[in-house]
Amino acid sequence: MKRLLAAGLATLSTVTLIAQAPGAGKAPDWQKLRPEILERYRDLVKIDTTAGRETLAVEYLKKTLEAEGIATQTFALDPKRANLVARLKGNGTKRPLLILAHTDVVGVQREKWPVDPFGAVMKDGYIWGRGSKDDKPVLVANLITMLMLKRSGVALDRDVIFLAESGEEADLTGVGINYMVREHFTDIDAEFAMTEGGGATTDGARVTRVNIGTAEKLPARARLVASGTAGHGSVPRLDNPLMHLGAAVDKVGRWETPMRLNETTRTYFEKLAAISAPERAAIYRALLDPKTAAGAQQFLREHSQGEYSMLRTSVVPTLLKAGVGANVIPSEAEATLDIRALPGEDIDKFYAEMGRVIADPAVRVVPIPQTRPPSPASRIDTDMFRVMERAAKTIYPAAAVLPSMSTGASDQAQLRAKGIQSYGIGPAATESDALNYPAHGDVERLAESSLYPFVQYVWTVVTEIAEHK
Ligand SMILES: [Zn+2]
Repeated sequence: MKRLLAAGLATLSTVTLIAQAPGAGKAPDWQKLRPEILERYRDLVKIDTTAGRETLAVEYLKKTLEAEGIATQTFALDPKRANLVARLKGNGTKRPLLILAHTDVVGVQREKWPVDPFGAVMKDGYIWGRGSKDDKPVLVANLITMLMLKRSGVALDRDVIFLAESGEEADLTGVGINYMVREHFTDIDAEFAMTEGGGATTDGARVTRVNIGTAEKLPARARLVASGTAGHGSVPRLDNPLMHLGAAVDKVGRWETPMRLNETTRTYFEKLAAISAPERAAIYRALLDPKTAAGAQQFLREHSQGEYSMLRTSVVPTLLKAGVGANVIPSEAEATLDIRALPGEDIDKFYAEMGRVIADPAVRVVPIPQTRPPSPASRIDTDMFRVMERAAKTIYPAAAVLPSMSTGASDQAQLRAKGIQSYGIGPAATESDALNYPAHGDVERLAESSLYPFVQYVWTVVTEIAEHK
């Protein structure tokens, strides 16, 4: 079924045009669906699912899916933190598609909120609430997609698996994706997955950019431990561990680790150059040429730290621990480094190289056990990526579509490590909203106008990749 239109054809009337495209007999009436999308989204935001309460959302999802004849299964290592799986069967000619979202949200400081953080209050064109961005838009888009697939009776070439997982934000006991991958992988195994980890930028009137997440960095933290001789604060010693640690922290913090582009980041900067203002475009182009890359990197280091971090394995000192009293030289001092490794980085070699940069036998590099597996980047030449790109251009005709690498970490790492080609999505936000109301920020909110096209985007991708043609 072909319902996609040429990019640039539709603007304000995208929704109607798509509904009327040839062969789109089964396409939902998006205008009519809005109240249901909004209601279910607000229902989910109203459920306080801070760590340890995820089963509350699972109960809601179970009730909603089963009311429409979609069977569900729950898997719980901790009964308060259940995961839910639902599967719509295809004819098996293609391997499954997994659409997943985490149900948990980070905590709130209520005094920072102008409204009830679990009220899903509607004000100024926004829905306000913890989880309104992270990750309940994806959760509701996946839910609505399942409901609409079932209601329309669309025939599928591949199973569509819905997973609502717990403990993405805080999974110290491994109740969420780690548990599912370890104990119940056959229930979620798929060729492709789609979940949080991408996003879109709008200027308020139209979406100008869509990022499809195809890769992420790996947290590979380490401690620096400096040792010396304990002594009296009145007697200076050259082996004072604070001095050695201070020098080492300064060196690694300023260390310019090697720049390395991968398929995702190279494509990202190429496409970014094509849509940026001339001055900025010149920077991105300079980055892609080894002869001019050094100057461009310096510019990004000062003016666009997120992009600078995409170029390399990064080392950021984040914690210091030393000393017992103002008159005591301690025998040990330590710092924690938040190291974020590029996909494919040989991390043991990297630690050894860092030791050479520090060049001080009094300071040891001590790796901190990793919480996520190393994961390769997902490919950008798959049917899934192409479908996502095409759907993005249909739903957001004015947008440039870029593959992107997150400098943060997500549950896609566990999926990619198991060989699933996994892709990140997210609803559109203005640059100012992304800055002032970010995921995990003091206050979270989503523009209502971003919600509906996002749900439509998810549905379009899922039907395009899974439907029997
Ligand atoms: Zn999230």
